[in-house]
Amino acid sequence: GLSAQTEKKIFAAKNRPADNPLILHIPDTNWLYRYAESVPESALKLAERFWPGSLTMIMPKNNIVPDETSGGLTTVAFRMPDNKYTLKLIELCGFPLAAPSANLSGFPSPTEARHVYNDLNGKISLILDGGRCSCGLESTVITFTEKGVKILRPGGVTPEMLCEFCEVEIDKAVTDGLEDNGKALSPGMKYEHYSPKAAVYMIECWDNSRFIEFVNNNYDENTLVLTNAAGKIRAKTIPYGSTDEREAAELFSALRQADELGAEKIFVKA
Ligand code: AMP
Ligand code: MG
Repeated sequence: GLSAQTEKKIFAAKNRPADNPLILHIPDTNWLYRYAESVPESALKLAERFWPGSLTMIMPKNNIVPDETSGGLTTVAFRMPDNKYTLKLIELCGFPLAAPSANLSGFPSPTEARHVYNDLNGKISLILDGGRCSCGLESTVITFTEKGVKILRPGGVTPEMLCEFCEVEIDKAVTDGLEDNGKALSPGMKYEHYSPKAAVYMIECWDNSRFIEFVNNNYDENTLVLTNAAGKIRAKTIPYGSTDEREAAELFSALRQADELGAEKIFVKA
């Protein structure tokens, strides 16, 4: 996380744009003081509740953090991962690890080791298989405002969860998308992300029976449907979304599975 040379290798392996900054992963909240110029009081409160976990907090950086890590910004992002092996690894290193998702930029984030192998085989020397991700979504990226926090990228920790602790704003780039040439507070948001090779159609309809009707009228042989209503659908399906919670955790994995099966179109209920 602190070596400009190593950071460059991460960007090369992932094909990641150099202005998309990396997150520093730390095993202990006290490490914030080593690399942040200042630590907002509410950050400590949020860390106590959500760390280790899917919350990334942005703070002003000090000069120990290289520009390569922060993508040239004066701020740096921090997170404490919820995996005991990763925490131990960082502790043993003694410095924070820049650990972006182990996928090619733009593709759905990996949620198991096989996904990493598919994207990065030949470009990295080792994969440590810690089993499937429990959350299966990105971390929520927040920055601090006068009254509370602003969400720059949605993720595993929801606005509702944050609301219990402070005022929560959601950046316009999240809700409305970026205008052309719009400046992204979170640079990653301006690039295509989480996108499989197939075209994904989010079908908006009131209920499941309408969705099933739509799919049955519009599928072809290269369509795959992510659904929990497989029995009634005539197209090929991938089981998905048995409960709202599982839906989030299964999405990236289902999108990758669809790609592996050679889908050209993916239908999913919005
Ligand atoms: P990833 O590691 O692939 O999950 O991506 C990290 C995300 O955090 C990207 O969307 C970055 O743009 C965002 N990010 C990292 N550092 C900063 C920062 N200093 N300011 C704003 N966003 C950041
Ligand atoms: Mg990522």
